[in-house]
Amino acid sequence: MSNTAGQVIKCKAAVSWEAGKPLVIEEVEVAPPQANEVRIKILFTSLCHTDVYFWEAKGQKPAFPRIFGHEAAGVVESVGEGVTDLKPGDTVLPVFTGECKECRHCKSEESNMCDLLRINTDRTVMLSDGKSRFIAKGKPIHHFLGTSTFSEYTVAHIGSVAKIDPAAPLDKVCVLSCGISTGLGAAINVAKPKKGSSVAVFGLGAVGLAAAEGARISGAARIIGVDMNPSRFEQAKKFGVTEFVNPKDHDKPVQEVIAEMTDGGVDRSIECTGSIAAMISAFECVHDGWGVAVLVGVPNRDDSFKTHPMNLLNERTLKGTFFGNFKPRTDLPRLVEKYVNKELDLQLEKFITHEVSFSDINKAFDYMLKGEGLRCIIRMGA
Ligand code: NAD
Ligand code: ZN
Repeated sequence: MSNTAGQVIKCKAAVSWEAGKPLVIEEVEVAPPQANEVRIKILFTSLCHTDVYFWEAKGQKPAFPRIFGHEAAGVVESVGEGVTDLKPGDTVLPVFTGECKECRHCKSEESNMCDLLRINTDRTVMLSDGKSRFIAKGKPIHHFLGTSTFSEYTVAHIGSVAKIDPAAPLDKVCVLSCGISTGLGAAINVAKPKKGSSVAVFGLGAVGLAAAEGARISGAARIIGVDMNPSRFEQAKKFGVTEFVNPKDHDKPVQEVIAEMTDGGVDRSIECTGSIAAMISAFECVHDGWGVAVLVGVPNRDDSFKTHPMNLLNERTLKGTFFGNFKPRTDLPRLVEKYVNKELDLQLEKFITHEVSFSDINKAFDYMLKGEGLRCIIRMGA
């Protein structure tokens, strides 16, 4: 055990006090981990659009003050009672959706929707005692997605922590703890495009480009990238995207444009925008008879999905996924291993376009809001 085990750790965290206002680096007290929890020293974290939605309070239930962050890599500092799978010094990726390994979902080959630890954006405290492990300025601070990685130390349930190969470069594999695995899995595990098929990817941020990579690895012949931000197109060429559509360039719905390009529709589509309009277009642009659309983007609180039921009767399939259907503790270590051993042609560095020190974390928000770059790595302790 480290010499801080069992003690409160004082460290820096980026606290979001109010919706949409810059985060403030504060000194926080991080309580020791309780039963089935670990305390993690975060070394790298990155910003995903899901953090931004909840910071903007567009997500389900806004809660402030909060410590956001869920895409990260670090090392276990200490473990709580009853923890046997993890020990201090283990290299880990915290994950926003967990795996208890006991429930029906965890035992099913088809699901990663763990009964105990599935993504819960409304939960702001730890499961075991309903309390926060963070205090700043004398106030408890809400957790986010059971990870809260915008802190030099954080506490997580062991079911939300994947133990990975210590040889993995943490400043790269950190992006596998959410966005890249999500996009990749949405393609290879959920959409499952056949060799030679056509795939439309809506949203060419990191998640969408990881989906494009997944489509390329699966052997798709045509990968049509759809985005409203034209600066995305040049970058997307490096990710196997073969054609581009900007909905703003057309005076008819983008689903009609894609149907014309593909003789009736694409074989698969993967939506990675969070825009309800794009979700509907992504569904309606798949071919009748066999087309499958997969939703990945996180919608706004009041969104609802509207399409004519005939679009379904005509044998189109609509699916959705969290974390690309990967089971975080079982599948993520294997995915990291495949990346380290170069068994999978996944160039994580292509997704990392910016890097900032922890004190400049607000710059990462600016880049994402302006649609500049893909992932921004935030280096802790600097
Ligand atoms: P990002 O902001 O980097 O990329 C989103 C892209 O979508 C941008 O390029 C933007 O211009 C484009 N876009 C927005 N509206 C559009 C529209 N109507 N039509 C076409 N393009 C449009 O975000 P990201 O980090 O790549 O995340 C993408 C989405 O995936 C977000 O909604 C995020 O919350 C969600 N997400 C879901 C999961 C999951 O497990 N389901 C995991 C991670 C992220
Ligand atoms: Zn994410």
